[in-house]
Amino acid sequence: MNITRKKVIVYIIMVIIIVILSIIIIKLFNNYFNNHGQNIPNMPLKGDRSNIYSCENYKVCNQNDIIPSIGLPCDCYFSEGYWEARSKFRTAVSKIEGAELHTLIVIPNSDYTIDIAVINGTMGLMVHTSGIHGVEGYAGSAIQLALLDRLQNKSRNGQPTIVLIHAYNPFGMAHFRRWNENNVDLNRNAMLKSDGDIIRSRDPNIAGYMDLTNAFNPSRKPSLYDAYIRLPLSMIYHSIINGSDNIKHAMVAAQYVDPKGIFYGGDRLEKSHVLIWNWMDRFANKQAVSWIDVHTGLGNSGEDTLLCDGGDVMKTHTRWYPGVPKVQNETKGEGDVGGGYELTRGFNRELFTQKFRNKNAKIHHMTQEFGTLSGHMVARALILENQAYNYAPNEQAYWATFTRDAFYVRTPEWKQSIIDRGVIFAEQAIERSRITSKELNGS
Ligand SMILES: [Zn+2]
Repeated sequence: MNITRKKVIVYIIMVIIIVILSIIIIKLFNNYFNNHGQNIPNMPLKGDRSNIYSCENYKVCNQNDIIPSIGLPCDCYFSEGYWEARSKFRTAVSKIEGAELHTLIVIPNSDYTIDIAVINGTMGLMVHTSGIHGVEGYAGSAIQLALLDRLQNKSRNGQPTIVLIHAYNPFGMAHFRRWNENNVDLNRNAMLKSDGDIIRSRDPNIAGYMDLTNAFNPSRKPSLYDAYIRLPLSMIYHSIINGSDNIKHAMVAAQYVDPKGIFYGGDRLEKSHVLIWNWMDRFANKQAVSWIDVHTGLGNSGEDTLLCDGGDVMKTHTRWYPGVPKVQNETKGEGDVGGGYELTRGFNRELFTQKFRNKNAKIHHMTQEFGTLSGHMVARALILENQAYNYAPNEQAYWATFTRDAFYVRTPEWKQSIIDRGVIFAEQAIERSRITSKELNGS
């Protein structure tokens, strides 16, 4: 055996060892990062799946884990799947005397519904929405269940009407994806036609999305190599070349040209918005409106940021919402959480502040955004899940565990701060609506 041949054999053995070691490291990483409990049942993306989720495994409240500031337990308000959450929501509404339950079917001949609780009061309006970004709905759903518990046996006389909108994007929530059944980001899609026409005709690369589309939208099925080597390296590379803030800016500004891409804003107003827009007609004359839209994914883990469009919320938040850790104007792209949003349009807020006809109406439409993991982990999960959704639908349930864990941190501490801050903020918004209504009526 000559020396060159020996060298070749040594190289081959080294390569084999490196490959085996890489596979072991990737598997270890994968087990480490996906350790939040059970996996998602393998639900087909099409066809009837209403029987796949059993509601038998509801967690039982552990009364020893009472959250002192609100006197409620936390874990039992959280669900492991959309149908479990919806079933709990409907049960909780049925326990409140006089409460109405409205169900809107989002996808015909399917079991994806938006459920709405109406607890009628005599003045003002407080609206609370969960799950516009699908997978983010588990936090908002839990807050709504806790609120319903707090509202039991309470008189509504002199109180605002409370409307809890559960699972605004039920398909996304059921399949642990941020986007809806048409791959549309509902919080980039909430625009009346005239506004939409302007935004859709703007340069799709206005914030640099198209320059990065190959990194955001690989057109093939995802792999563990993507998850643990290619994507992290790609993010490090682009962060150095472009800067992390610019990547966020490019991503969240969204795009209206690639229906398979992440952050796609759609080409028309989506069904969820149309249904809620029409349904809300009954409240269009309300004057003192507080609206909270719950999201997760940005900020320090478990900490909430109040995002708004400046204006009266910015001026008066110390009066109405004491204790909110951070208040940021996202329409100006201010702050660590609201930064990068200055070119983003189609927020739910933009559409629904136009719903209330009265010129004197005082509306606070606010996003309560809870932090989860780092921005890189969140972006990585979104890219991988979207690859699977488009190019390997049979594997989507597996890759959806990445988005679930990036937007829904299933630790006791995180859940506790969601319930704690979620309930306190919602009750402040109810109180603000009550007092503002009184002031407007001069009583
Ligand atoms: Zn969101």
